Amino acid sequence: MSTPRAGHPLTRRRFLGHLSAAAALLMLPRKALAQAGDPKRKLGVALVGLGRYSANQLGPALRKTQHCRLAGVVTGDRAKGLKWARKYGFPETSVYGYDTMGQMAKNADIDIAYVVTPNQVHAENCVAAARAGKHVICEKPMATSVADCDTIIAACKAAGVRLWVGYRLHYEPHTAEFCRLAREKVFGSFMKMEGANGFIMDSDTRAATDWRLDKKLAGGGPLMDMGVYVIQAACMAKAEAAPVAVTAKFGRVTLPQVFSQVEQSISWTMEFADGAVASLRSGYDEQISRFRAEAAGGWARLEDPAFYYEEPFLTTSRGAPEFPKVNHQLAQLDGMALELIEGRPSLAPGEMGRRDMAVVEAIYAAAASGKRVAVVS
Ligand code: NAD
Repeated sequence: MSTPRAGHPLTRRRFLGHLSAAAALLMLPRKALAQAGDPKRKLGVALVGLGRYSANQLGPALRKTQHCRLAGVVTGDRAKGLKWARKYGFPETSVYGYDTMGQMAKNADIDIAYVVTPNQVHAENCVAAARAGKHVICEKPMATSVADCDTIIAACKAAGVRLWVGYRLHYEPHTAEFCRLAREKVFGSFMKMEGANGFIMDSDTRAATDWRLDKKLAGGGPLMDMGVYVIQAACMAKAEAAPVAVTAKFGRVTLPQVFSQVEQSISWTMEFADGAVASLRSGYDEQISRFRAEAAGGWARLEDPAFYYEEPFLTTSRGAPEFPKVNHQLAQLDGMALELIEGRPSLAPGEMGRRDMAVVEAIYAAAASGKRVAVVS
């Protein structure tokens, strides 16, 4: 980790002051303070879907979170759910099937349902969770269409529950600082952005088993998966504004047996209302993860890996600020729990997931037609 250079606007101390949970707790109303301070009153999270992300990242993070804990699971495999109950110490009665999610309504131990299933299934899982009266975190991408995002948002509104998208980077210090630089126009308004995010998926074996290559379950290829992070970064650079139009081009297919349903790679541009342009790329053909934004008064860069679980590393034309290294999932889960406890607006609300899905739909339409496509928000 590097040290802040003279002239950088944010010191470590100021940042820690900004994020400190302890400081935030001091501002809480009494009831919320009791809830946050008592380990028995941590918010209960049920993981919906026990695949890789739940098993390797979210479950382990929920052992360390201060403001929430794993309180149940939803799985198609009851034996697996019972193993989770033993491993994480929650009652067997808190293991549900996808078809019995409605019964969570009676379980006061569960406050939040975190949907971690393949993209196409998010909508039905989120709606079921909302109808059971649970707050909902939906993994990215929020769904596979804007229409499904609208269905999720409507279900959460009708149930009076909160909806987040699992955008972990909004709770990560380097990315949060990048957002601040953009929001406060520290270098002026970012007008030129460039970025890419992808990994190499080249095995026939994986193609046979990974839903990410199944158009119906994934909704699309790397754009839906890794590309969403680059879309996010471009919007962050514009203080969360949505682009007004996009152009796009599918990349060359070198492995037709693997990429028979979804694109292997795609590049696109996003134009914003003030004339700013982002040139971006995502692919399952390149190990890459970076983002750079330029303004008249300076630049900021999220170094490779900008979007992976390893700490992204922010450098700017004024130097490299120093921030604590955090576990992304832990920071996100505690950040979201605190937003709920404190009644604060979310950094990653459902509307943001819908905005990004509108961009994804416009990008696919532009790539298919070869035309510039307006983004309808
Ligand atoms: P995975 O394939 O490892 O797990 C998916 C789970 O969903 C499996 O347990 C599977 O049994 C279950 N499932 C439920 N309904 C299903 C259905 N109808 N068809 C197939 N499987 C079904 O996938 P994963 O890598 O854990 O990804 C899950 C979600 O999490 C995706 O939306 C992905 O984009 C997201 N994700 C986010 C991050 C992040 O950094 N935020 C990282 C990884 C994955």
